[in-house]
Amino acid sequence: MNRRKIGVMGGSGLYEPHEFEVRKELELDTPFGKPSDTFHIVDVEGIEVVFLSRHGRGHLIPAPSVNFRANIYAMKMLGVDTLISVSAVGTMKEEVAPTEIVIPNQFIDFTKNRQQTFFEDTPAIHISFADPTCPYLSGVLHEGGIRTGAKIHPGGTYVCIEGPAFSTRAESRLFRSWGVDIIGMTAATEAKLAREAEMCYASLSLVTDYDVWKEREEVSGDMILKNMALCIESAKEIIRVATPSIAEETNGNCTCRQALSDAIVSDLSRVPEEKMNMVKVLLEKYLQ
Ligand SMILES: [Zn+2]
Repeated sequence: MNRRKIGVMGGSGLYEPHEFEVRKELELDTPFGKPSDTFHIVDVEGIEVVFLSRHGRGHLIPAPSVNFRANIYAMKMLGVDTLISVSAVGTMKEEVAPTEIVIPNQFIDFTKNRQQTFFEDTPAIHISFADPTCPYLSGVLHEGGIRTGAKIHPGGTYVCIEGPAFSTRAESRLFRSWGVDIIGMTAATEAKLAREAEMCYASLSLVTDYDVWKEREEVSGDMILKNMALCIESAKEIIRVATPSIAEETNGNCTCRQALSDAIVSDLSRVPEEKMNMVKVLLEKYLQ
């Protein structure tokens, strides 16, 4: 039986796959550079899961400097077709409190200086990104959250800022006026690259703070770490509970894993070889 190959992109507070048995450690290199850290192949309920720390162990790489392309490309090299991303966010709504979890289904991308496509010049490939996360994977993670008793919110709009500084109050109020639910620095970039890599993608966004819109609630690194420690345990528990269902499902109700089938504009036979070599892992099945 075919099984999905699950990857977990660990974020702040989740630098190592603690608790899960490590079967293998791998160093990888990609045409887009080095990933953030060593890959750990771990055992989750008897299922092989690929784990990578987005910021590297010890959190040495801040969000704007993460090599998102190398991280996602290397996951693809390892055969990952289903990616669970864990990251810290601030909440923009009263009804979502710190230590709770959101599974966003929309993004507003306010990043400024990042590489966020594998298809820079040629070949020309335009993915559909209207619904940027996987409804199937998001649903299974939500069910997992309910089973573990976590306070988990399905859906919501995530505004992705460049960082490393947090928002000004004016920016924070602006985002609120747009109906944004949560704010972070990583997920929109990852989701876009995961779609180009034809992966099902969903984010477990761990709420650590109220950003700066709320009176008498300042955002500081210290408070974020405290709340992070509180919700990181439930994220790991959700991954443990949801992994068997995610791995068994082969179809889902989504088209993420065929995202390039109607997105390739260039005649691939005319793309220079050195350009094709950069993205071969992503386009292999269209080169038959
Ligand atoms: Zn999907």
